[in-house]
This record gives sequence, C-alpha cells and structure tokens, in this order.
Amino acid sequence: MSAGSEWSRQRRRRGTIRAQLQAQVDSGMGSCWRCGRWIPPGTTTGWHVGHIIGQADSPEQTFDRSNVAVECAKCNLRAAGRRTQAKRRARKRRASAWLSDPEGRFL
Ligand SMILES: [Zn+2]
Repeated sequence: MSAGSEWSRQRRRRGTIRAQLQAQVDSGMGSCWRCGRWIPPGTTTGWHVGHIIGQADSPEQTFDRSNVAVECAKCNLRAAGRRTQAKRRARKRRASAWLSDPEGRFL
C-alpha cells in the first residue's frame, strides 16, 4: 500500500485520541498535564492533544494513547516555541562550524 493510506490511517487514530481526550474534558476530568490548568467540560478549543514525549524525540509514539494528554493552548504553544528555538540553535552551531577552518581560526 502507499504511504498515503498509512497517513490517513494515522489521521483516523489521531481523531480517536482527540475524541477520547474530549470525553475526558467533558467529564470534568481534563486538566493540562503540564501546568494542571483545568479545562471546563464542553471546551472544544483552547486545549490541544499534548505529547508527553515529543514527536521529534519519539515519532512512533505520536499516536500512542499512553503518550498523549490534555494540554492547554498556552503550554502547547510554549512547547512548540522551545522546539523552534532548539532547531535554531542547532542551525547556528552548524553555521559556525562552516565558518571556522580545521585549526579553529575563524575565516
Ligand atoms: Zn498548561
């Protein structure tokens, strides 16, 4: 089968996980796993499917029910910002390696 069908299969699983977490929120048991902020029942926006182990660190656990939890938008965005910063730092390190010659002198 093509990679496309694998993708849509995972999309469906992701939808199920979101529905499970939505049920948790609706039952009044949904709190952000990072900061503990309570998400009131019936809230459909303002929270995200958070990954306890980052997708970058463990892609195979992206859709693992034990690796996902309700995460408030604030924490989700903050986590995304940290990931972007880490990438930016990594690029910077590579860039400075290109700029220095093997003896460590900067060109
Ligand atoms: Zn939070």
